[in-house]
Amino acid sequence: MLALSVAGQSNAATADDTCDGNPAPIRYLLTFDDGPSAVRPDNPTEKVLSILSKNPHQNGIKAVFFTQTRAVNGGGTEYGRTLLKREVEEGHLLAFHTATPRHSNHRYLGEQDLKASLELGIADLTSITGVAPKLVRPPFWSYDALTLDVYQQHGLQMLLTDLSANDGIIYGINFSLTKRRNMRKLLAAMRPRWCQNTLPVVDGVTPIVVTFHDINPYTANHLEEYLGILLDVAGELNVQVSEKPFYDAADELERAALARVVKDSNNAPELPGIWNWFWSLFR
Ligand SMILES: [Zn+2]
Repeated sequence: MLALSVAGQSNAATADDTCDGNPAPIRYLLTFDDGPSAVRPDNPTEKVLSILSKNPHQNGIKAVFFTQTRAVNGGGTEYGRTLLKREVEEGHLLAFHTATPRHSNHRYLGEQDLKASLELGIADLTSITGVAPKLVRPPFWSYDALTLDVYQQHGLQMLLTDLSANDGIIYGINFSLTKRRNMRKLLAAMRPRWCQNTLPVVDGVTPIVVTFHDINPYTANHLEEYLGILLDVAGELNVQVSEKPFYDAADELERAALARVVKDSNNAPELPGIWNWFWSLFR
């Protein structure tokens, strides 16, 4: 089953296909899940922040961090909270991922526990940023109509992803030897929709959502290379990238993210990697 879904993605258009729709250039909307990390020394979240701020591709990149505000080895610690504050001070956007000690699946929490967890996380993030978070990403990409409804009741909109580095360490994959091939395959799968102008255009560009995990030391150590790969594969696939390829202001970033949220669980986009297949086993 996994092989079938991978083969399906590789059937996507290539750079040779003409693009009649005169589409708006893409702009990469970077997102980071599961952080902050409280590991010291060599903290991966700190490293990610430094690279976003200064790198050979574009300085001052702003990202959305889907945070775990009560994680035992991260956001629930004093150092974790210091990093959450630093993310805000550096102009990034904080969003909700979990407010449980671990990476709890929202679909299995039960409605009351999910609500309590959302309220806790919203309060945690509001105390740090001064405003309630608007975006949520479900752990393990796992949600159903009820999950989505409870999110929306709490003023949260669900953002999934277009490209994923598949670098989550939760399920045991903390490195990728095939990161260039993976990103190229995922962008190639997006290309027909970009060409046909069926993706939302915000502020003159087509936001393409990319997911990494800032608690993953491999990601932190290779982020600069990942940024280069994103630019390279767009060039290879003849997908035009905006003059500033990555977002550099939180307000634009938020407008772009809100244009890409999932409103209705019946209209669900593909999940990254193995996750469509994995969750289909439990439906
Ligand atoms: Zn996660």
